[in-house]
Amino acid sequence: MRFNTAVLSSLSLWVAHQAHVANAFGVPSRRAFARAVSTQSMTTSTQLRANVLKLSDPTTQILDKTDVFIFDCDGVIWRGDSVIPGIPETLARLRAMGKKMFFVTNNSTKSRAGYKKKFDSLGLDVPAEEIFSSSFAAAAYLEQTNFKDTGKKVYVVGEVGIGEELDLINVPWIGGPADQGKQPDMSPGGFMVHDHDVGAVIVGFDRYINYYKIQFAQLCINENPGCEFIATNLDAVTHLTDAQEWAGNGSMVGAIKGCTGQEPTVVGKPSPLMIDYLCTKLGLERSRICMVGDRLDTDVLFGTDNGLQSLLVLSGVTTEEKLLSAENTITPDFYADTINDFFVGVPAEASK
Ligand SMILES: [Mg+2]
Repeated sequence: MRFNTAVLSSLSLWVAHQAHVANAFGVPSRRAFARAVSTQSMTTSTQLRANVLKLSDPTTQILDKTDVFIFDCDGVIWRGDSVIPGIPETLARLRAMGKKMFFVTNNSTKSRAGYKKKFDSLGLDVPAEEIFSSSFAAAAYLEQTNFKDTGKKVYVVGEVGIGEELDLINVPWIGGPADQGKQPDMSPGGFMVHDHDVGAVIVGFDRYINYYKIQFAQLCINENPGCEFIATNLDAVTHLTDAQEWAGNGSMVGAIKGCTGQEPTVVGKPSPLMIDYLCTKLGLERSRICMVGDRLDTDVLFGTDNGLQSLLVLSGVTTEEKLLSAENTITPDFYADTINDFFVGVPAEASK
């Protein structure tokens, strides 16, 4: 069955991805891997890699070869709650050239409708159909696997985005924000009653995760036969504020892995599920798609693992020093300061 192949492929790619990144830093242990990821901007190596090219002729190097751009959001389009200067004009020029574009984010706290509001608030006119959040990816996965036909419901560890997307495909769900602040009865003889009709647990970034949610998820996965364990993403850290890195959804997923011994099905970057969905639904040709992001281990890997062109921008978390260091083995086709470099020195009329 095609879908099972995609899921297996997703999981094996993730395992390969873990090893790939660990090798990139020359640190095989998980603890060292986490430390390397969280301190990636502190690398001291200055040895340059000759095969990483800075964008110098955007028309022939990228624009002529690309029909569809997939943009990561934070660090590419905006930083936190501020749009990066010049981006609205650059997106407008790409649209005027007839380029298709999609905006992909691993952040599951918002639904596509929630992101649409964020785009609107930043003055970016982006249709909801162009937005792919990992909350939507989780719902799309359940849709592709005909989860609704099982008659089961979903338990959500996460914020409002996942539930809003499940509502749109009419899949019943429990948990999420409703379980914020709950505590199980842990007095002598305390027993948590869980729902035996839960057929999938989705784990997304959750600022209000607690022991109640972890125990409920554990009971569903361990005791409900065939219950799926789905992760929106495994990002080690996230930029909750612009002052430091914060524990990402990898920590929430890790808690559930720790008590179930199960590996999740990952639906966000760098899993291929999202690109498979786009290519199948819209008939896109992979080689004419360019993935643009600010992270090597999610965005660029998502591009290279899925047969896409890839461009790293330095407007987010990855420094030029980190990209060009000898330890880094993840190589985009090109890199640029921002996507505004597509049109450096090109008058607006000339790009139409
Ligand atoms: Mg980013």
